Amino acid sequence: MGSSNLLSLIFMKIDLQPIVQKHVYIPRKEQFMALFPGSPAFRWNQVEESLIGMSYENWEQLSNIPKAMRDELGEQMPWLSFKPVQTLRSKNGDTFKAALQMEAGEFESVLMQNKRGSWTICVSSQIGCGMGCSFCATGKMGFKSNLHSDYIIDQYRYWDYFIKHNKELGGRISNVVFMGMGEPLANYPNVKAAINLLLKYTDLGPTRITVSSVGVIPVLNKLLDDPEWPPVRVAISVHSADTDTRREIVQTSYDQFLEDLKKWGIAYAKKLGNRRHHLTFEYVMLNEVNDSVMHANKLAALVRAIGGTVKVNLIPYNATDSVYECSSEKNFEEFMDTLRNHGVEVTRRKNMGGDINAACGQLVRLREKNDDVEVSSQT
Ligand code: SAH
Ligand code: SF4
Repeated sequence: MGSSNLLSLIFMKIDLQPIVQKHVYIPRKEQFMALFPGSPAFRWNQVEESLIGMSYENWEQLSNIPKAMRDELGEQMPWLSFKPVQTLRSKNGDTFKAALQMEAGEFESVLMQNKRGSWTICVSSQIGCGMGCSFCATGKMGFKSNLHSDYIIDQYRYWDYFIKHNKELGGRISNVVFMGMGEPLANYPNVKAAINLLLKYTDLGPTRITVSSVGVIPVLNKLLDDPEWPPVRVAISVHSADTDTRREIVQTSYDQFLEDLKKWGIAYAKKLGNRRHHLTFEYVMLNEVNDSVMHANKLAALVRAIGGTVKVNLIPYNATDSVYECSSEKNFEEFMDTLRNHGVEVTRRKNMGGDINAACGQLVRLREKNDDVEVSSQT
């Protein structure tokens, strides 16, 4: 190749860069290496350990690294990868929800108090979601972006500091659930990296972390054989064990899905399942859609085919702008009783933070539709 051709190729590449890199996030580790080339590996580990494990408030507090480095970081690197734009508190004070902003758009993160007075955080793994479930506000947004593991970790850091800063809240983060915006298994490398960092630098054990998935079978199969996938809990959003009903409400479902899920569930139970690593089936209760006795019988059959490590969690539908309503109390009770009569272990999820649109994707979607939506803000 002649030198002028080579030059024009180089220029083409340079010309293209601004377009290609429009929304490219430079991971914190790469930013650090660019700022301090040649610094020993342990330095970054120290920084990472302090960021995730120490509930600090700013770079100045990282007293284990040299002052000059701290000053440079303070000037050059944002403390959080996103900008918190709004934090809402539910009336009874047991749920908080934050709208967080990055280049590709807004996403959300939720803090909920659990029975023991400690806190569960519900983190997002994507902005929007490409899975298009017909009852879900995030699904309606479509897919916008994957979140780099820094953004996932920073949701933990944001709430960890929030709890410490608002002393009246008390307690600490005891659980992390991937039930915010997005499908975690469609962003597998970042979700895996974030979980491994949480396990490394916080006192959260693997049974304190739950990844919820609509059921991306190839990735579910992959995680069974991935030595780097940590033994966290897995929840599958089944929503119906009747093929046609599931296809109606979960766009990505297909005729063989329930059969594939059964096979995977059996393999999971064999490999990882025990009382501590039970599998959860989530089930959003949609009135007259998936809540009949026939549906309960089919769900029980699926659970029993997999074996004793499956628990069912019934979720009251939190109304979004969809055609669905939450199941009537009568249908709810009947559904639960039918499952129990089959010997299935079943719980009903408490509806939290309804007044701050705490269901998946609702706050961001409302903010998108109407910038001046009336909510009490306390950023
Ligand atoms: N994409 C993953 C995780 C995020 S959604 C998944 O689908 O599992 C987390 C849970 O919230 C899922 O079980 C989902 O079905 C449920 N969900 C979504 N919208 C809801 C709504 N409006 N009311 C109640 N649950 C909802
Ligand atoms: Fe995506 Fe989960 Fe919403 Fe379905 S329920 S659209 S998979 S976030």
